[in-house]
Amino acid sequence: MTLAWKNPHRTALLHAALAQRILVIDGAMGTMIQRHELEESDYRGERFAQGFDALFAADGHAHGNGCGCTVQDQRGNNDLLTLTRPDIISGIHDAYLAAGADLVETNTFNSTSISLADYHLQHLVRELNREGAALARAACDAAEARDPTQPRFVIGVLGPTSRTASLSPDVNRPGFRAVSFDELADAYRDATRGLIEGGADLLMVETVFDTLNAKAALFAIDDVFEELGARLPVTISGTITDASGRTLSGQTAEAFWYSLRHARPLAIGLNCALGAKDLRAHVDVLAQVADTYVSCHPNAGLPNAFGGYDETPEDMASMLHEFAESGLLNLVGGCCGTTPEHIAAIVDVVRGVAPRSVPALQAAA
Ligand SMILES: [Zn+2]
Ligand SMILES: [Zn+2]
Repeated sequence: MTLAWKNPHRTALLHAALAQRILVIDGAMGTMIQRHELEESDYRGERFAQGFDALFAADGHAHGNGCGCTVQDQRGNNDLLTLTRPDIISGIHDAYLAAGADLVETNTFNSTSISLADYHLQHLVRELNREGAALARAACDAAEARDPTQPRFVIGVLGPTSRTASLSPDVNRPGFRAVSFDELADAYRDATRGLIEGGADLLMVETVFDTLNAKAALFAIDDVFEELGARLPVTISGTITDASGRTLSGQTAEAFWYSLRHARPLAIGLNCALGAKDLRAHVDVLAQVADTYVSCHPNAGLPNAFGGYDETPEDMASMLHEFAESGLLNLVGGCCGTTPEHIAAIVDVVRGVAPRSVPALQAAA
């Protein structure tokens, strides 16, 4: 039996918008955070001023002089800013909404226990996901209140983690795995609960480089939906990591779709790693084979020698305009290196272009 929608009204709005036009997803969070040139102290705020969470001790001890808690640099822990500089994260959501984005992504890309372990903050998973979704929710609600004709949706983001379940990181031990399916599923269950509590309208399993990681995320999401007795729409976005057009786990875009199709996602797409130009052929494949919506949020070109991205809003928008005119897109946005200026340019060029029509469903096998 299929579970009912958790928020039937919001889901109906999303479906109606997708039937009508190409929806625009926001751009990068990281690029915008960099503009603030934050210091270690910004990342730590008051609660983490000592380099650990003053509100939490694993064994319940009272923190004090030389209590032995691990002091950990937090600079670069962008997801922690949800708690320590919510003003910055809300400001970024507001800027993308002002640029015309229909959907904003939560600041939760690394908010899994696996990624947070790098900062000794794995106990924050539920809180970071809940609060990250709540910030995006508040920004979307405010934008929607200003213009009720344009609904704004919160995408609860589940990132890939830094570990891969189907490949060994050690060439000398091909059978070794740095993470198991069950560990990944556990990590994703907790993150999913938080995103839903915070008010996400839909979930996105994104920047998938290993299909087995995505399967663990989708498995976890289903478990949480069972717990709740209700579900949200789910989208999946993979990333092509090599010149032959394959994901890290070796799949073409077509194979990627067929190995995840059983999850019946609202959309399947590609993001990150490449710019629009190099993603085009792969998005075209998805547009032909997928009997669901197709999304694409590329980087602003390939990284330059300094790790930055050079594609201007006009360059990127003109390529994505061609994607739209060719009938490839239902959802479009930006990944690394993109800014509200990029998103505003994309909004401009896809306005009035018909969304891709989803190929008729084949009879259920
Ligand atoms: Zn302590
Ligand atoms: Zn990216």
